[in-house]
Amino acid sequence: MSDLKIAVLGAGIVGSTTVIELKKEFRNASVHIISEKFQNETTSYVAAGIFSPEGGNLAGNEERTRKWLVDSYNYWNNIRRTQNFEMTGVRELSGYIFSRDHPHIVKNEWLEKLLPLYRAAEEDEMAMYPGGWKYGSYFTTLQTVPGNYLKWTANIIEDLGIKVEKRKVSSFAEVCDDFDILVNCTGMGAKFLCKDKAVFPLRGQLSIVRAPWIKEFVFGEWDTYVIPSFENVILGGCRQYESYDTAVNRYDALSMEERCKNMIPSLNKGQLVEYRVGLRPYRVPTRVEKEYRLVGSKLVKIVHNYGHGGQGITFSPGTSLNAVQLVRDMLTEKQSKL
Ligand SMILES: Cc1cc2nc3c(=O)[nH]c(=O)nc-3n(C[C@H](O)[C@H](O)[C@H](O)COP(=O)(O)OP(=O)(O)OC[C@H]3O[C@@H](n4cnc5c(N)ncnc54)[C@H](O)[C@@H]3O)c2cc1C
Repeated sequence: MSDLKIAVLGAGIVGSTTVIELKKEFRNASVHIISEKFQNETTSYVAAGIFSPEGGNLAGNEERTRKWLVDSYNYWNNIRRTQNFEMTGVRELSGYIFSRDHPHIVKNEWLEKLLPLYRAAEEDEMAMYPGGWKYGSYFTTLQTVPGNYLKWTANIIEDLGIKVEKRKVSSFAEVCDDFDILVNCTGMGAKFLCKDKAVFPLRGQLSIVRAPWIKEFVFGEWDTYVIPSFENVILGGCRQYESYDTAVNRYDALSMEERCKNMIPSLNKGQLVEYRVGLRPYRVPTRVEKEYRLVGSKLVKIVHNYGHGGQGITFSPGTSLNAVQLVRDMLTEKQSKL
């Protein structure tokens, strides 16, 4: 397959992970990554990076969701075990999740079955954090600091000889003649590229503060969370349905900072570093599938890998490995079967 040409569209965490796994699978192929934005311009860069599947079912099929989740955990954990944290941004992190009224919030069946530690929090542990918490869990999960990870993958992309093109793709027609197969990892961009009405933004905003004494994450109610990151601490958050506003909203900042400080009063001594805003590319289910699309008179092979919502850091390796498998399937499928 030495003449094989593959293009990955998008260079967030999903595109970056996918392109590397594709190049490893198709060593002799010419593999390209084409993207409008890279590194700190992407939504991925904004994320807190906690490995934490939300209660729902990302794939719309429990077995498939579990496979993505287990593959993802193993992928991240392998990086954590074999590489240096400062370089990759992948490490283990422990902390609490609390609720005043809802015991189900602190139980995450996906994580309970997967993580090395997931246990009920003791009364004295809950009392350490003001809020009158009645239910709580303590667990050890993984964190991928996206800024570090994206930089690390950029070096791997260069080392593997993957060709990098910075540009916006307005339609599949624009690129389909140059490649045998396209892999679409455009996140929110897929809403327009695929005219996919099921994709919508879930706006998020974070306050990044300097508070080096915070060593554990704490999730409270109302999307309130405090997460230590590489050098700083992340205070969040919010989820605003169908908001396309990427400007910092000072009322959101005031609300989330107050909620976090109520939970951890020592944050009053923290210093603000910056704000971050991102649009989570939400879709139910996340789209990881093959498509044969007629563009003019050409039948174009496309594998989609987008719509990870608030869980793209968690699930990107699992869906990317799945997408690589779909590329292999498409390339070996007989034209006569189409
Ligand atoms: C505040 C916040 C906190 C979060 N915290 C977490 C967390 O703790 N854990 C977790 O798992 N997830 C978290 N997420 C979710 C996570 O950030 C996303 O699910 C993930 O970043 C999606 O990755 P992506 O690569 O699909 O999208 P993106 O990072 O948006 O990348 C899409 C890429 O496609 C490119 N693109 C789009 N359209 C085109 C086009 N037409 N032509 C060329 N290029 C195009 C873009 O330029 C970009 O490079 C959080 C998100 C936010 C906003």
